[in-house]
Amino acid sequence: MNTRISNDIKRMLRIAKKYKINLAAIRLTPHLNAQLPAWYHIAAEHKTMQGATTRCLVQKHKIATVADLLKTSNRIRNAETEQHQPSPYCRCRDCNSDRLLNCLNPHACATEASVRLQKITPKLNPLTRPPLHDNLSLTPTRKARNSIAKKRNEDITFNPSVTSKTNLAECFRIFTNPDKISNLPATRHLTCPQVGDLPTITVATHYFIKVARTTMSLGWR
Ligand SMILES: [Zn+2]
Ligand SMILES: [Zn+2]
Repeated sequence: MNTRISNDIKRMLRIAKKYKINLAAIRLTPHLNAQLPAWYHIAAEHKTMQGATTRCLVQKHKIATVADLLKTSNRIRNAETEQHQPSPYCRCRDCNSDRLLNCLNPHACATEASVRLQKITPKLNPLTRPPLHDNLSLTPTRKARNSIAKKRNEDITFNPSVTSKTNLAECFRIFTNPDKISNLPATRHLTCPQVGDLPTITVATHYFIKVARTTMSLGWR
């Protein structure tokens, strides 16, 4: 995963600020969320930039993006797969490589990176688990059929999936009201067969029986 902020992204963020453009995607993929800048994150609970660990993360670990935070905090978040010990003297692979960067307390820095990640709002947080949703997403076969149908200008099956684009550049919008941008992840809830639909059928059946009886009573066969 690319951990540097590309010049394109920097340029976009600067222009976005100037023209009050908003990052207003319905949903971003974890990969896109990881490309966002780690510091002064657009949708994270504020945390001061003071402190030795924050300074170390910026100056020695060279953390720039959310992807960098993920990489540095991995030993804390996936304790069962890493051999990391919660101690400044830990000798695991990640702590040893941090020492090569002159980091004095790799465990404290990894913890700080993890805390910073937790402060990112769920919608833009790559650690947010995708919610359970309905089974209406298109299968790969149906998607393939759609792309053939598009080329032939034939009917396509609607795809209700709202996972965002492949590039952050496609997620910026002008003419948006920043107060109306939700930081909650967009979901499609699991739906069960609607019990409420049954009376309609019952009514129709009653109507049918009533019509049939009337027909019979009138002697129409
Ligand atoms: Zn360690
Ligand atoms: Zn450090």
